[in-house]
Amino acid sequence: MSTGKLIIVSGPSGVGKTTVLRQLYETCLLPLEPSVSATTRPNRPGEVDGQSYYFLDADDFQQRRQAGDFLECIEVFGHGHWYGTLRAPVESALATGKWIVLEIDVEGADEVLKHYPDAITIFIHPGSLEELERRLRGRGTETEDALARRLEVASRELAAADRYRQTVINQTIDQTVNDICQLLQAQE
Ligand code: 5GP
Repeated sequence: MSTGKLIIVSGPSGVGKTTVLRQLYETCLLPLEPSVSATTRPNRPGEVDGQSYYFLDADDFQQRRQAGDFLECIEVFGHGHWYGTLRAPVESALATGKWIVLEIDVEGADEVLKHYPDAITIFIHPGSLEELERRLRGRGTETEDALARRLEVASRELAAADRYRQTVINQTIDQTVNDICQLLQAQE
């Protein structure tokens, strides 16, 4: 069985990563598999434990961290919510020839690249910070405080876009999905 590929997708919260990736998995004819991260943040309406994330309490998360279960993990917003990529599912997906897709933040991406320097890195860009704010407000899931924090983090993340091998501007979902699928097919 051939070894798979590791794909890292980043982009600021609210840019549409989840929607783009869901459609990518449905339409792109590659053996793509989403990596399910663990997080200590509460689940949002519609999110399913074990599919969207593994929702862990803070103690569980730290125990797994100490046990070395994470390929990378980080307190993303500096306010108590941790996110991390579990090592074992990534290794087994790669061993079975899958193309595993990690939807993680820019610091997590740097960490993963230390272990997998050949990872395919893709940054989904909103076009501008103003456009991102419009989308986040439209989503309506955040308090003003959380929104302000996300925008602050986002402006730092946008500055990191040029560290990624590929940047895709998400103007329409279909176009973005198509662009990502094509650039991945070029790696076959
Ligand atoms: P959200 O709370 O909106 O689902 O995700 C917030 C941020 O956490 C996003 O930028 C997302 O890419 C990032 N994230 C999700 N899972 C992981 C992970 O396992 N590791 C890291 N480093 N970031 C993650």
